[in-house]
Amino acid sequence: MIRTQKGMLLVISGPSGAGKGTLANLLLEQDPSFRFSVSATTRKPRVGEIDGVHYHFMDEESFLKKVEEGAFLEHAEVFGNRYGTLRSEVLERIERGENVLLDIDVQGAAQVMASGLPLVSVFIMPPSIRELRARLENRGTETREQIERRLSMARSEIAQAEHYQYILVNDRPPKETAVSLRAIAEAEKLRTIRCRVEIED
Ligand code: 5GP
Repeated sequence: MIRTQKGMLLVISGPSGAGKGTLANLLLEQDPSFRFSVSATTRKPRVGEIDGVHYHFMDEESFLKKVEEGAFLEHAEVFGNRYGTLRSEVLERIERGENVLLDIDVQGAAQVMASGLPLVSVFIMPPSIRELRARLENRGTETREQIERRLSMARSEIAQAEHYQYILVNDRPPKETAVSLRAIAEAEKLRTIRCRVEIED
């Protein structure tokens, strides 16, 4: 049997604090066929964040230059900062048969969906707004005011969940929810559009 495979573009979105980052890391750890698409952002690095690993950190001017050059597959403003997915992180990799994971907001995901690229979209849903608040408070990386902004944003993001192919409620320990995310990925790898199988005589 000869099998040629095209890479998968897996887009995950969900409110800040819903656990996307943890789930993304678990998938990347457990399934080496996935590469994380490192986004560009004008946000300042948080403690422990490394340029080129977590984000490509850049100033407003460099970001806008990339927008003009058409370097982004999508870009959006989130919480007063700009974020964008670089085409170079995604397109050639998919052609090479690698799977690419995007952790982007709902505006960016809508742009990728509209681009016509085949993708798999998963919305990570928090169990409740109360739980989301608790997670943001425990994370301790945002001020009180930022937490309130993120919570009101969460409500409008949740309203977009219906546009995604899958909704994953993150109401279990991350390792358990990650099993469902992997199940989605494993099934999607076998879709006929990504997989050409020729049977030998
Ligand atoms: P954070 O600043 O907490 O890392 O991310 C804030 C939000 O920006 C998250 O919802 C994250 O998914 C989103 N985000 C990260 N990278 C991108 C990107 O390249 N494009 C878009 N549209 N959103 C992004």
